[in-house]
Amino acid sequence: MNIKKAYYVKSAVNPEDYPKDSKPHVVLVGKSNVGKSSFINCIANNKKLAHTSGQPGKTRTVNFYMIDDKFYIVDLPGYGYAKVSKQEQLDWGNMIDTYLHYNANIALILHVLDIRHAPTQLDIQMAEWIQFYGLPVVGIATKSDKIGKTRWKPQVELIRRKLGWSQFIPIIPFSAITSQGKDRVLELMDISINNYYDDL
Ligand code: GDP
Repeated sequence: MNIKKAYYVKSAVNPEDYPKDSKPHVVLVGKSNVGKSSFINCIANNKKLAHTSGQPGKTRTVNFYMIDDKFYIVDLPGYGYAKVSKQEQLDWGNMIDTYLHYNANIALILHVLDIRHAPTQLDIQMAEWIQFYGLPVVGIATKSDKIGKTRWKPQVELIRRKLGWSQFIPIIPFSAITSQGKDRVLELMDISINNYYDDL
């Protein structure tokens, strides 16, 4: 799969504002500043599609992008930004839980993690949520250009162990700078989207 057409559709806080059609959703979750916007821009071949922040915690809405008129990329608000209030953290939790709860269109979750670091407590909580809802997940171990290739495997296994993921869950070293992992991610997205349409 090579993405040819991608555009921003809308941002939503409440379920009544989510898109109403039945096209599948590929959902991005991860810590703020982990590289979700850069990931979206890289796989969609459009440097300006999602804002890359430098301002962590900015994205507080569920953002929908239409890809090749076939599926949505859904960017959920990043978590773990230290400077937000308790109330904002609660709102974040509610927004994620509401989205996961109300959405029957989820084809795949992409859990984005920094390949250099062990998952945080919030990453672990996120993985538990995904498991609770029984959603298919793939790990994106991003910023792989920042460490030597020989460290990829041990870091990937650290992430796997901390999140309690079996060997059946792929974790893909990825870089928005070198496009490392891009083809594999697109392939896995394609399979999930086709499965979704086959099951309709
Ligand atoms: P978001 O908050 O999750 O959307 O994160 P951004 O995409 O805005 O990225 C946060 C910071 O990490 C920015 O300064 C990006 O340039 C940088 N970044 C994101 N992905 C990569 C990557 O694959 N490699 C490197 N070296 N930097 C990255």
